[in-house]
Parts: sequence; C-alpha cells; structure tokens
Amino acid sequence: MSDGDVMEKLVSLCKRKGFVFQSSEIYGGLNGCWDYGPLGVELLRNVKEAWWRSMTYREDVEGIDAAILMHPRTWEASGHVEGFTDPMVEDRKTNERFRLDHLLEEAGVDCTGLGLEEMTAKMAEVGLKSPKGNELGEARHFNLMFKTHVGPVEDSASVVYLRPETAQGIFVNFLNVQQAMRQKLPFGIAQIGKAFRNEINTKNFLFRTREFEQMEMQYFVAPGEEERWLDYWKEQRWTWITEGLGIAESRLRWREHGGGELAHYARAAFDIQFEFPFGWDEMEGIHHRGQYDLGRHEEYSGKQLKYFDDQSRQKVLPAVIETSAGASRQTMMVLTNAYAEEEVRGDRRTVMRFHPRIAPLKAAILPLVKRDGMPEIARRLEAELRPHLRVAYDEGGAIGRRYRRMDEVGTPFCITVDSDTLQDGTVTLRERDSMEQDRVPGSDLLAEIRRRMDLWRHPES
Ligand code: ATP
Repeated sequence: MSDGDVMEKLVSLCKRKGFVFQSSEIYGGLNGCWDYGPLGVELLRNVKEAWWRSMTYREDVEGIDAAILMHPRTWEASGHVEGFTDPMVEDRKTNERFRLDHLLEEAGVDCTGLGLEEMTAKMAEVGLKSPKGNELGEARHFNLMFKTHVGPVEDSASVVYLRPETAQGIFVNFLNVQQAMRQKLPFGIAQIGKAFRNEINTKNFLFRTREFEQMEMQYFVAPGEEERWLDYWKEQRWTWITEGLGIAESRLRWREHGGGELAHYARAAFDIQFEFPFGWDEMEGIHHRGQYDLGRHEEYSGKQLKYFDDQSRQKVLPAVIETSAGASRQTMMVLTNAYAEEEVRGDRRTVMRFHPRIAPLKAAILPLVKRDGMPEIARRLEAELRPHLRVAYDEGGAIGRRYRRMDEVGTPFCITVDSDTLQDGTVTLRERDSMEQDRVPGSDLLAEIRRRMDLWRHPES
C-alpha cells in the first residue's frame, strides 16, 4: 500500500465512520477547517483528557482556560505582529499563493535556517516555478494572524486577533496563577484551547489547518535551572506519547532546531516528529524560551511580572520551558498510527489499533442471535458498563461482520452473549488486535476490561 493510498483510505474511513467531516461540506467545504463527528469528537476529547490528566493532576502544574481574544498589545509584546510570518510567493498567472519554503523543499532545496533574501536567491538559482509551471512573483512575508474587530466600530483602535497560540494567555496570567495558588518555582501552567493561523496553504488533512486546538504548558523556572527542566520535559513528553497515546516508537524521532531556524523567542528547541504517510514532520515542540516572554510583557504592559522568592528575599524573572502540541495534529497522529490492514484467514480486515484508553468506543456488546433471551442479557450488561465506559450495542448481522465493523472503528473489546452465557453467566471477550477470545464471567467484565486496558502496548512497540 503506497503512502498516498494510506492517506486517502484514512480520510475516507474518517468520513464513512463518523470521525471527521469536511467543514460546511454541503457548500463545498472551507479549506483548512474540519468538523469532528461522533467518533472523532470522542477520540479528540480522549487525547485532550489524557493530556490534561498527565499535565495537571500533579502538584506543580495548574490549569487555566484563557480567552481567545486578547488585548492587541499582547501580540506586539509577543513578537507576533512583527514576526509571525511565513514566506509567500504568488503565481503570476493564476494569483494562487504558496509557501515559498515548501515549494523550494519540493524542488530539493533545504530551507533550514534560510531567511527571505536567501530563499529569494535560491528561487533564482533553481529557476523555481509555480506548481502549474508559471512564473512566480516576488517573495514576501505573510502574517498568519487572523484579524477582526471588537465592538461596532471597525477602525484601527478596535483591531484584535484570533490567538495564533495559547501560550500568551498563560504568560499574561503568570502572577495571577502563582499568587492565587501559592505556587513556588518551579511550576507550570497548562491550557488546552483553540488557536487560529491563516496558513498560506493547508494540506494533509488535520495536520495543517487554519483552526485547530493546542495543548500547551509553560513551566516557569529559576534562571540557571533551564537545562535540567528542558531534559526533564523532553523525557516526560516522549513517555506520554509512547505510553499515554500508544504511538509506536519506531515512528517517532527527535529533531533539534539549528541556530538559524530558532523562533524569535527560543533559546533551544526540540521537535518530536512522527512518520506521517507524507513523511516525518513535527508533532510537538519542547522549547527553552528563556526570559523572553515575561520580559517582553513587563516591558509592554509596564507591570512587573517578577516572582518573589521568600528564601533569598529577592525578585526574579523566571525563565520558561514550554511543551507545545496540537491536539488536532496529535489526533491525526493517533489515527495514522492506528490504521492497519491485514489478511485474516483469506479475508481482509481494516483495523484501527488505538490505545484502548484513547479509543472512542471501549467495548461493543453483541448478542450472538436475536432470540433465546440473549438480547435481554446483552442489554443488561450494556446498562452496567455504560456509566463507566463508552460502549456500543449491536445486534444486526452475522457476528463476524459485527466484529469487523468494530475493528474498523478501533473498539478494543467485543463482548458476545451466546448460549454458554445462558448456562453459566460467562461471555466471550474478544480482543481487537489478537482477535483472541476468552470466556469471562459477566460480573467481572468491567474489572477485566480495565485490567487489559492498562496492560496494552502497541504491537510494533
Ligand atoms: P509548523 O512548522 O508545522 O507550521 P510550528 O513550528 O509553527 O508548526 P508551533 O508554533 O511550535 O508550530 O506550534 C506548536 C504545535 O501546534 C505544533 O507542534 C503542532 O502540533 C500544532 N500546530 C501548529 N500549527 C498548526 C496547524 N496549522 N494545524 C494544526 N496544528 C498546528
């Protein structure tokens, strides 16, 4: 199966099975925007919930939920008004616009660390043309922030931006959180929320969209302690992605940003990359931001954002280690990582190998036949499990077909009520990955499913 096929099949499965739909599809869709269907929203929520638990159910990290619209000075202080740009070129004939670095990379030029002028020189060097073979216009910077207005008057005084990242809502609340929660350095603030970027080109499904969700955590440390915490968070995030999300280690790698490509705020940056069907690409960043952010907000707001250290009786401006991930991009990784096709006794099955904790449906309850009291027992089991787990009930069609339907949406356990159940109260518990079946007392189901969920490892790990 080629990589292009995998993407096509994944997008089609996502639509057919209710994971992801094109936004406003009946009007032809809106580029770079997607809607999560019933199973997709569950998957996305499970990814976010797992992240939230791992990041904030600890003593040294607090959560917040800041507004999407912020005072416009925020984005001047953060450097986004001036520097949050991508290099853009225009097809002279069709007026289509493209990201210059992406076009150059497709033409075999490594753009790592190159500025606009250097990329312009490379354009001439390789005789770069638009994808349609037309001449290209002059390269320029394009700011990715969406602008809008607050209130009824649309003038320059009412301009605000849709936040392009959640981090700034954390920085401006640093002292509020520290004082309210009586936190001491080092401590972190975590947030999950929507972010918006007017990406020049969107492609690759959920990977690069114009509206997406981020899961970010800023960890405030005493100056001098940055390296230690950078290493700590790198290790934490890797472990969470492999163990928490069940991503195969063979499809993950680190990439360190070279000096020339560091973002304006960063002192050091490491990406965790995932091997998507279209190649290796960034999935999460762990950044050493130094004192840049709090320093800039002090300067632009005129308010002190220093931390008072009781012991030394001194005020310090903390440095920041950041972990920054896209919830939607991670969901795309989870979908890609889970997708598999295999031969089973002359038959072909598609199976989504989600980590059971992340899977949208945890179990399906299936009466073998629609008689002999089996549906009634199955409904009873369903009612017992439903308050604890998201489960499905399905009595339509041959049992093999029902198993395949559940494999295709990644349901890790199928519970079949059959004639033995009528005799001794046991049910068949079938595992999605191995397809092995065991008999389990109906009364032990919840504990048994939970036990197996905790033991799960991706077959390629
Ligand atoms: P890229 O180089 O892919 O544009 P970036 O380096 O600008 O990403 P960051 O600003 O570090 O990304 O954002 C942190 C995380 O937010 C990324 O690792 C990614 O998971 C997610 N993210 C960023 N832009 C998008 C987008 N347009 N669509 C979906 N997720 C995104």
